[in-house]
Amino acid sequence: PTYPVITIDGPSGAGKGTVCMLLARQLNWHLLDSGALYRLVALAAEHHHVKLDNEEALAVLAQHLDVQFLVGADELVQVVLEGEDVSRQLRTETCAQAASKVAALPEVRQALLARQRAFRDAPGLVCDGRDMGTVVFPDASLKIFLTASAQERAHRRLRQLQEKGFNASLDTLIQEISARDARDSERSLAPLKAAVDAVCIDTTALTIPEVLTRILAEARSRK
Ligand code: C5P
Repeated sequence: PTYPVITIDGPSGAGKGTVCMLLARQLNWHLLDSGALYRLVALAAEHHHVKLDNEEALAVLAQHLDVQFLVGADELVQVVLEGEDVSRQLRTETCAQAASKVAALPEVRQALLARQRAFRDAPGLVCDGRDMGTVVFPDASLKIFLTASAQERAHRRLRQLQEKGFNASLDTLIQEISARDARDSERSLAPLKAAVDAVCIDTTALTIPEVLTRILAEARSRK
């Protein structure tokens, strides 16, 4: 049987992470944070002293990622890589930048494909990424492309980092986000782009509950 999938793609800071988490909780579906997998490959590379341009070695790391996603009582997910809790390290901008470098390598993307598809299970899957609707789940029941202005996305990232106790400056974030968006959009394999059949939602002026309501309405209209 094939279980339903809702894909949510878009640039960083568009609100995908929060929206996917809430949507999965509301529907009681599984959740795939595909960005975390690319971030984990970057961290594994650091642990094993593999350079970020060593495609073959990175693909091997991606293939054999030893990772556990532990859901705590507070529903916060703890990410354990090779026995080490990397939940905090995973969210840093340094890790995100390294992730977008390894994500440009075709062999790494190929190595993560089956792992991502294995998240599809009953009763359904909500997934967050850049190529969920275009490459990983082209047969998804609903595809959403979330965007927001670069300025607004940098503001959101800043608030998010501050809440987690990280220091950051808005200007640096704008630069980092633009660099990452450019790398993600310009790579030849699975670039960041809306699937032809995706519903595009600009979240610049929307609240999270408003975005959620729109997506749930789209999901209902497709049943
Ligand atoms: O979504 P997140 O910010 O965690 O993703 C980190 C990086 O991983 C992105 O900038 C992108 O380069 C890469 N990525 C990807 N394809 C996905 C998810 C993330 O290339 N489906």
